[in-house]
Amino acid sequence: MTTPLGKAPLAIRGLTDEQYGRVIRPGDAEYDLARAVYAGDVDREPAVILRPRTAAQVALAVALARATGLDLAVRSGGHSAAGHGVCDAGVVIDLVDMRGLEIDVDAGTAWAEAGISAGEYTSIAAEHGLATGFGDGTTVGLGGFTLGGGIGYLTRKHGMTVDDLLAAEIVTADGELLSVDEHDHPDLFWAIRGGGGNFGVVTRFKFRLHELDGVYGGMMVLPVTAPILEAVIAEAEAAPDELSTIVNVWTAPPFPFVPEEYHGKPIILAMLCYAGPAAAGKVVVDRFRAIAPPLADMVKAMPYPGMFPPADPLAHPIIAARNMFLDRVDLATAETILDHVTASSAMVAGAQLRVLGGAMARVAVEATAFAHRRSKVMAHLTAVYADPAEADLHETWVEGLMTAIRQSDSGAYVNFVAHAGQEQIRSAIYPGATGERLARIKARYDPTNLFRSNHNIVPATG
Ligand SMILES: Cc1cc2nc3c(=O)[nH]c(=O)nc-3n(C[C@H](O)[C@H](O)[C@H](O)COP(=O)(O)OP(=O)(O)OC[C@H]3O[C@@H](n4cnc5c(N)ncnc54)[C@H](O)[C@@H]3O)c2cc1C
Repeated sequence: MTTPLGKAPLAIRGLTDEQYGRVIRPGDAEYDLARAVYAGDVDREPAVILRPRTAAQVALAVALARATGLDLAVRSGGHSAAGHGVCDAGVVIDLVDMRGLEIDVDAGTAWAEAGISAGEYTSIAAEHGLATGFGDGTTVGLGGFTLGGGIGYLTRKHGMTVDDLLAAEIVTADGELLSVDEHDHPDLFWAIRGGGGNFGVVTRFKFRLHELDGVYGGMMVLPVTAPILEAVIAEAEAAPDELSTIVNVWTAPPFPFVPEEYHGKPIILAMLCYAGPAAAGKVVVDRFRAIAPPLADMVKAMPYPGMFPPADPLAHPIIAARNMFLDRVDLATAETILDHVTASSAMVAGAQLRVLGGAMARVAVEATAFAHRRSKVMAHLTAVYADPAEADLHETWVEGLMTAIRQSDSGAYVNFVAHAGQEQIRSAIYPGATGERLARIKARYDPTNLFRSNHNIVPATG
């Protein structure tokens, strides 16, 4: 259902494409598609969606939100689990038409507009034998992804995405376009490396590129028991930094490459990415093959973009999710995960375990606004379901699993957190000194909290 145009606030009725880029209002043919976000349970109706093409148009859009007092949401790829990229009855700044990418091969750097997707950037950079590490989703937007920190297939080798961020351009709440880096506005540059979209609209990022001719990587499906899961995580931890591993312990979807007798039952679906010579990668990956005979083995030498299978840009799954870090995946933890996964009635339920460490952990905790450098394993717990009436059932399941495997690390990673109150934001996502510093920087650049459709950092007072 869409709001009739007649109900749109007066202030936004006269906006033109010429001023703002594209202007999409309720009633326009594109409106329903443009307001949809990845999260399938989010159904919001903004008063207007602005699709700027230039930083000047972004500044004008920010000024409009400020002047009208309407709510403001900023969106790059629309993949926020909480649907932060869209708001009801307010202004959405959608950067989808700002997807330029300039690669300087000699300097090993790239300027990317914030609306480009991780997959688009990765494919273009790979044509030059270069890469910046993003996550495992092709359609995820660079904007939200980078601002939260960025953990992916090159994290143990080269660090987080923000560790390759060299500079950015950002329109702040007062409409000014600032260039930020280690020397100019270093406080703001620190804050946007993990602090999310709290400080303004980033229009462009400058990234470091790494030489990467290809990887030894892909998907390996293994049967799962608690000892197998414990052994897989132990191998991933013991592996050299070249290997970044994402281990999904899931009830198997009916994928053609998974034997039918496993459909609906727990399996390990591991994504392995060795960013180095294929021969060395094979030696490392063979250790996983030796844990149990794989049910499917697609790990091989391939171009880096091969790590990203094509994704449906129109997918809108409903997911109950919790994010947390674990100190270790021992036998007891593995057993608990398997018991819970087996008991779930969701379409697909499971735990995604990402072994951290390597280059990511060698950066000082206080160097960026991402506070969890020393965490060992990130666990992202999910239940995917179709019927919104089942929400309570799956939320209870996912909360129960989180409680059952909780260890000493009480942190959470902003990019994967769905709904969080102020207590969780300040204690788990931005704990201690990180949260305090972010609140002071927020007070300086966004004292009225214009940018609040996010995991919000409340401006410090006094
Ligand atoms: C399928 C899938 C795979 C994923 N894989 C990974 C992964 O491997 N690693 C990982 O770290 N994360 C991963 N994520 C999480 C992802 O990084 C976050 O959801 C991220 O916020 C998405 O960015 P976006 O631009 O697509 O989202 P949006 O919903 O557009 O934005 C998310 C947040 O960032 C803000 N924002 C977006 N763009 C800007 C901008 N230009 N300026 C200021 N604020 C902005 C928004 O206001 C919002 O608060 C994944 C998510 C999905 C759905």
